[in-house]
Amino acid sequence: MLKTLWDGFRLRCPNCGQGHISEGLVSVRQQCEVCGVYFERKSGESAGASIIWISILPFLALALFFVLEFSAPDLPLAVKLSVPLVALIVVGVALYRNVRGLWIAIVHLTDGLKGDDA
Ligand SMILES: [Zn+2]
Repeated sequence: MLKTLWDGFRLRCPNCGQGHISEGLVSVRQQCEVCGVYFERKSGESAGASIIWISILPFLALALFFVLEFSAPDLPLAVKLSVPLVALIVVGVALYRNVRGLWIAIVHLTDGLKGDDA
């Protein structure tokens, strides 16, 4: 199970572990080029990934704020607020594909990914 989740996070097909989930920097392939399973059968299926990611990001930014607050209390408040905000945006965009891959792996684990024959 952890290998399947890890495969999804590193944008490998959770079914075969060889195909690529992502296509380019932003988009997700419709189907695995190796085993043929569909990553998203219906549009909007990855909404769960977006909701989870958007829910987690503010907590990460808050944790970073407190790390800055306790490790460098003399920093100006504007810096302590802007660093987590910028990190939230950068990390949110940079890891969004990986979170979608993780979501695809979760869908696979719940028996959701199928090929043309299913
Ligand atoms: Zn595959």
